[in-house]
Amino acid sequence: MLTIDLKSAFYGNKQVLADVGFKIQPGQLVAILGDNGSGKTTLLKSIAGVHKTWQGKCQWDDKDLEALPLLERASAIAYLSQTTQSNFPFQVREIITLARFRFREDSKTRDRMVLKAAEQFAVSDLLERRANELSGGEQQRVMLARVFAQESAVALLDEPTAHLDLSHRLAVFQSFRKLCGQGISILCATHDLDASLEYADQLLLLQKGKPIDFGPVDEVVDRNGLTQLFRNAPVEWKRNPFSKRPQVVIHSSYEEKR
Ligand code: ADP
Repeated sequence: MLTIDLKSAFYGNKQVLADVGFKIQPGQLVAILGDNGSGKTTLLKSIAGVHKTWQGKCQWDDKDLEALPLLERASAIAYLSQTTQSNFPFQVREIITLARFRFREDSKTRDRMVLKAAEQFAVSDLLERRANELSGGEQQRVMLARVFAQESAVALLDEPTAHLDLSHRLAVFQSFRKLCGQGISILCATHDLDASLEYADQLLLLQKGKPIDFGPVDEVVDRNGLTQLFRNAPVEWKRNPFSKRPQVVIHSSYEEKR
């Protein structure tokens, strides 16, 4: 289980996170929602150990993540940053293969695992291409394949669908669900509100560096957490007629109605 209890996080003397605490069970997909600048990236970077000026604890199975030796840490968490653009002419196969560094395996097993991850994110036909010659969306799917090729218990993903078209966006969330079915936990900062409502188990709502709600999607919606978070957006909350899960509906004349 991933246990997060961040008392604070800073850039210089500016505090950007306060009292963010939650637990994620194996196999759960948790979406972090919040406006720009609410602290989503800083939270993920702090858990990943990329951002270091924070106080509190980030634990995997009661062990402090920052104290774990590199290989153990890599087996606990994998991190996908917001910038997935590759400026170097690495081959896609090489990039995904890098994620296998923690395994002692023969080349046949390694190639099989790389192919499996590539297939999961529909990039198997790009394996021989140079990453810097791919579109933004293709590069993002390559980086997702890399993250999950690491086979860590928890994946920390920063806006993993930002560059994707509708079909790939939904296919990626469906892949997340499959991976969660295999026991992997996913903590994902996203502006993909409709997909989060449909696919996530839990929502963490951040506002100005503070959590305003955390819990199962239905419960957060019932507590009006999303109404509070997106109070300036012309939207209403309905039920998806097919899945019966909460759904965001854009309401262009909402202001007039209010
Ligand atoms: P989000 O991911 O929700 O958009 P961030 O975690 O990126 O939010 O940012 C949280 C706050 O920290 C914002 O006020 C942002 O301006 C500030 N911030 C982010 N990165 C830095 C940095 N490197 N130096 C100083 N302030 C930063």
